[in-house]
Amino acid sequence: MAIRNVRKLGDEILRKKSRPVEEIDSKIITLLEDMADTMYYTQGVGLAAPQVGILKRIAVIDVGDGLIELINPEIIETSGEQTDKEGCLSVPGKYGLVSRPYKVTVRATDRDGNLFEMTGEGLLARAFCHEIEHLDGYLFVDKVTEYVEVDD
Ligand code: ZN
Repeated sequence: MAIRNVRKLGDEILRKKSRPVEEIDSKIITLLEDMADTMYYTQGVGLAAPQVGILKRIAVIDVGDGLIELINPEIIETSGEQTDKEGCLSVPGKYGLVSRPYKVTVRATDRDGNLFEMTGEGLLARAFCHEIEHLDGYLFVDKVTEYVEVDD
């Protein structure tokens, strides 16, 4: 178990494009585990590898229904729309309204190297979009229409 340092807005690594994972070796497994530990420790619902300084296409998500590990995730289908508040572990204390698709299907590889598809609605759909954008160097602040106050 290891908690990694979360990079914050202004750190250039957050703006870089991550590379696909070619081989799932022990370093990737350790990274997945450390990312989950870091996400739970910081009480986030998702974390992407660039946020811990690693430019690889990996994300972890848990919106309350269990841990989802995504290697080389891609959005393959979206529908509907939702506008709700969103935040990011790399932008502490800031929340803003962001429009996202209501329903999102992703295709990704799991830690055993198997391709899978998963469809999420609401918060999970939002998390899929948010985390996958991190892998291309985008942050939610790029899409905020209005900042909001949240007590937490
Ligand atoms: Zn984020």
